[in-house]
Amino acid sequence: DVLINQIAAGEVVERPASVVKELVENALDAGARRVDIDLEEGGVRLIRIRDDGGGIAPGELPLAVSRHATSKIGSLDDLESVATLGFRGEALPSIASVSRFALVSRRDDDPHGAALEVDGGRVGDVAPRSHPRGTTVEVRDLFYNVPARRKFLRAERTELGHIEEWLRALALVRPDVELRVSHNGKPTRRYKGEDTLFSDARLAETLGRDFAQAALRIEHAAAGLHLTGWIALPTYSRASADQQYLYVNGRSIRDRSVAHAVRQAYADVLFHGRQPAYVLFLALDPARVDVNVHPAKHEVRFREARLIHEFVYRALHEALAGTRA
Ligand code: ADP
Ligand code: MG
Repeated sequence: DVLINQIAAGEVVERPASVVKELVENALDAGARRVDIDLEEGGVRLIRIRDDGGGIAPGELPLAVSRHATSKIGSLDDLESVATLGFRGEALPSIASVSRFALVSRRDDDPHGAALEVDGGRVGDVAPRSHPRGTTVEVRDLFYNVPARRKFLRAERTELGHIEEWLRALALVRPDVELRVSHNGKPTRRYKGEDTLFSDARLAETLGRDFAQAALRIEHAAAGLHLTGWIALPTYSRASADQQYLYVNGRSIRDRSVAHAVRQAYADVLFHGRQPAYVLFLALDPARVDVNVHPAKHEVRFREARLIHEFVYRALHEALAGTRA
């Protein structure tokens, strides 16, 4: 079983940033309002994620680290309408099989918390441990027992950069959650939680004032599709392909067809061949999109790819054309 988990880890856990992604998504699925992310050595030495979410019952800790145990969907049909970020029940067992792993948690009603340690996939016993409401997951020495994977880890700065990049993408879509990051014992980033789900302040905080000042607000709905967000007008000089954030039902993803539609509209209206910078949130009925096409969920499959392309093109075309009138 340890081996199976290690093999699955090959798909889910590429580097420290993938661990941070999985753990923070679990915190959000648990309803966290605040998430603390402590890192050492680019996350290779330590990733500690602490949340104030609903927590896990002591008796359920072993289940949380066992394969394909998810509390989030009850049947395959639920996949059609999955609202949580996680649903495969693979992340914790995979991560725990390639690290020194500890899970500590307490639910509101429980008198005390409990801890469970897993070392390279070997699961220990549940022990009582005090903890405020919520969950802390500690991942030490990532890939210490898989030298072939450890070899592919990059310099501390590079790994930290990947983590920060993922956190930016998250910060944009969840301005309601407070995020605090520290690296090697020093606070490095803090996003304050806000009351709103659509925040110009968070945009400026995340991508910079220049972006926010040049940002054109997008808001478009048709055929059950809803697009909101911002695109930076050409006055923003630092636009590039790595400032293209796309979310589908709250999930950060890459999609070539949508990216193409945005770029095409930008080029057609503004006669600019270069890559535009944008943050776009597409919302649609979950039954119209398959999120289960990639273990790490970086991509989705739209059931009506052409329609989506047309819709996005039209939304951007109208908004951009309005700036030229
Ligand atoms: P998935 O997210 O796909 O369900 P994971 O392996 O990421 O699978 O997590 C397994 C289970 O552990 C989750 O379904 C959830 O019940 C529990 N869990 C994990 N992290 C947390 C957390 N931070 N707070 C509460 N429950 C958690
Ligand atoms: Mg998960």
